Amino acid sequence: MSAHQPERRCVGCGRRAPQALLQRLAADGDQVVVDRARRAPGRGAYVCGADCARTAVERRALPRAFRRPISNDQDFLHSL
Ligand SMILES: [Zn+2]
Repeated sequence: MSAHQPERRCVGCGRRAPQALLQRLAADGDQVVVDRARRAPGRGAYVCGADCARTAVERRALPRAFRRPISNDQDFLHSL
């Protein structure tokens, strides 16, 4: 582990972690999707896993992270 890893902040618990260890979420229209390929355009949000994703939903952190209204921020939880 010599190369610098980009770090991202989990929108659920707030911890910083190497991007590779976090799950990327993206906004598709007004819903949240799990961006498994990590290539969806636009802003991404990162979570450690399903628990933090639920926390982020409860705190309504996702519309803030994506800077747009999100009407469906629940369905993606099933695909984590
Ligand atoms: Zn977390």
